[in-house]
Amino acid sequence: MKAFMDEGFLLESNAAEELYHGYAKDMPVIDYHCHLSPGEIASDRQFENMTKIWLDGDHYKWRAMRACGIHERYCTGDASDYEKFEKWAGTVPQTLRNPLYHWTHMELKRPFGIRKLLNPSTAREIYDESTAMLQTRAFSARNIMRSFKVEVVCTTDDPIDSLEHHIKIRDDGFEIRVLPTWRPDKAMMVDDPLAFNQYVDKLSAAAGQTITSFTEFLDALKSRHDYFHEMGCRLSDHGLEAMESVDFTDNEVSLIFARIRSGKGLPWEHRAVFRSAMLYYLALMDYQRGWVQQFHLGALRNNSSRMLEKLGPDKGFDSIGDFEMGRPLTRFFNRLDKEGKLAKTILYNLNPRDNELIVAMAGNFNDGSVRGKMQYGSGWWFLDQKDGMQKQLNALSSLGLLSCFVGMLTDSRSFLSYPRHDYFRRILCNLLGTDIERGEIPPDFELVGSMVKDICYYNARQYFGF
Ligand SMILES: [Zn+2]
Repeated sequence: MKAFMDEGFLLESNAAEELYHGYAKDMPVIDYHCHLSPGEIASDRQFENMTKIWLDGDHYKWRAMRACGIHERYCTGDASDYEKFEKWAGTVPQTLRNPLYHWTHMELKRPFGIRKLLNPSTAREIYDESTAMLQTRAFSARNIMRSFKVEVVCTTDDPIDSLEHHIKIRDDGFEIRVLPTWRPDKAMMVDDPLAFNQYVDKLSAAAGQTITSFTEFLDALKSRHDYFHEMGCRLSDHGLEAMESVDFTDNEVSLIFARIRSGKGLPWEHRAVFRSAMLYYLALMDYQRGWVQQFHLGALRNNSSRMLEKLGPDKGFDSIGDFEMGRPLTRFFNRLDKEGKLAKTILYNLNPRDNELIVAMAGNFNDGSVRGKMQYGSGWWFLDQKDGMQKQLNALSSLGLLSCFVGMLTDSRSFLSYPRHDYFRRILCNLLGTDIERGEIPPDFELVGSMVKDICYYNARQYFGF
């Protein structure tokens, strides 16, 4: 029997251990997609206690707690920070085989050096011990990032964001590059005319120009896109159920824009036309700037209208959808490819049913211009776990080229999520090591080890060009 989560955690062979310890473990981290608060990095936040840094905002933990019958008061409600932690500690033993069990103990181990298992009997001491450490300078937001050898972090930002925190971080001379990511979801949310119009007004203020037509709307977005570029942004990101790429004419889109600006709602077909046009024009901006566009596809969000009304979005009531993926993606990419204007692209899917479809689709549009131009993104959200990552790596290996993969990201809101890179690296090395042991890959550690280093670090560095 192996020890629980020791140095050889998830590494099932000598070859896997050699790859991990010799090539993966010490590589720096490029976290090219996350949801960290730039403000907390700018102020180098010191967290008051373990609940504030670990539980606040963590909808993965809340889902598990709710599943254990724990009242909402202890998840998002008004219970004290310690009461919330205690309820989480009571939940952890019930998360065996869920990634939360591994993440929890990896995160206690690094950065806190706590090797005890979290459960009701250890709750108090672990809370006190970790909270005491959080009071020290070594555990400020920036110092935690330093301790994980983070080199670059890309946050997720709205086009109307002033990026004031990014400016502060840069001006402070913080050696870890904290760059914005362009996420223009709200510029496409035309289901609610009131909210859309308020957004357009804010965009107009941010860009310092009037917006009376669709052309001016695009101009304003373009000027914000230019500003993001100046601020070091090299990626865009879109959260979509599926790609949308119905036919449209500029005239049609202009009329649709005028209609919604007059406060009128749009019929379903017009919304699809508008979003299709927006995705196309935004893709052109990304191409012109040499950015990487990311598409997070397939989430069915806000399933509980009762909880949406009570807590708002992103509180753990989203799941996996079953949208049509193939045809709209090929229409979208084909148009851009035909015009010679397809940006580097990363596709992430949430329904594991779509794994092979997505990696095969990506392969259609590699054009020999950039190594790994069309990427099949790492296991995301519900697939960001051992089984999901293995399946992603296997689908990519079988239908694409694993060697060109830009690797892992945290996609997290927490400064304690960097061990997810370590989790990924162990899984990657275990897959390759197992192949070596089976005689399916040559036992050439220079060859396989350099591929490991590429996937952990060098591919991302080259691909994104930060
Ligand atoms: Zn994300």
